[in-house]
Amino acid sequence: MLTADATLPGLASPAGQGGELHMPSTPAATSGQEGYPEDPKFLISAARRMLYREGLDSQIGGHVSLRVPGEDAFWVTPFQYFDETLPEHVSKVGFDLVVREPGTLPASPGINFHASVMQARPDVNCVVHTHARNMSVLTTTGEPFGNYYTYAGLFHDDVGYFRDDLSLTPDQEGDAIVAALGSKRVVLMSHHGSVHAGDTIERTVAEAIVFELCCGYQVAAMAVGGKPLDDATARTYRDSYIRNGFRELIWEANFRRLRRSDPDLFEAAGR
Ligand SMILES: [Zn+2]
Repeated sequence: MLTADATLPGLASPAGQGGELHMPSTPAATSGQEGYPEDPKFLISAARRMLYREGLDSQIGGHVSLRVPGEDAFWVTPFQYFDETLPEHVSKVGFDLVVREPGTLPASPGINFHASVMQARPDVNCVVHTHARNMSVLTTTGEPFGNYYTYAGLFHDDVGYFRDDLSLTPDQEGDAIVAALGSKRVVLMSHHGSVHAGDTIERTVAEAIVFELCCGYQVAAMAVGGKPLDDATARTYRDSYIRNGFRELIWEANFRRLRRSDPDLFEAAGR
């Protein structure tokens, strides 16, 4: 029986104007919209290593999952360090949490809410859960995520909040996280981490990376009395980042860096 991450405390478990960015007007091509031209297990492995390299170390907790197109199932990672993930470690698990195709490491027991989110949100193909440091520290202040850095605009009005409740069953916890997420893209989990829900693995991973960066800026800014940007400015940045393919560019830059930093992944994948 798979149990919720939250039951394992030790593991837990400018609208349109923004010309200053000088980015391409057409977002880079991404996989994930029409099936997955890349091997999903390789993409997940690459995603985990990008998250690690960008400072989202989550010990052995935290997972990256990717919907299997046309099936009530998802690819998902085991309990392990983010920077050791290989394609062979990734399992295919049904939304009923029955393992359909086992990886060489056991499927994680903390993935119920990944299935819950994908079932509740047909627009979501990728879920990223991390225990990253800055976001976890920010939640201890009781302050909401704010626009303390331009990139934070990407999440303006798009962050929900959740607090672990160990009295919930795994299914109940999944429902509660779905409720906290609503139609948003991020759930900030008090004293725990975050859940990111997106349409492609590239965009979702980029958002997790940027979100952690922004939480770091916010914690530092709050410590010195810094003030957030106004909402209108944040919306302007948000629209510009999305329109200009900022998230795809982040993925591609991290992928190029991964070729240099993680040759074992590319060797294992025969790439
Ligand atoms: Zn967790």
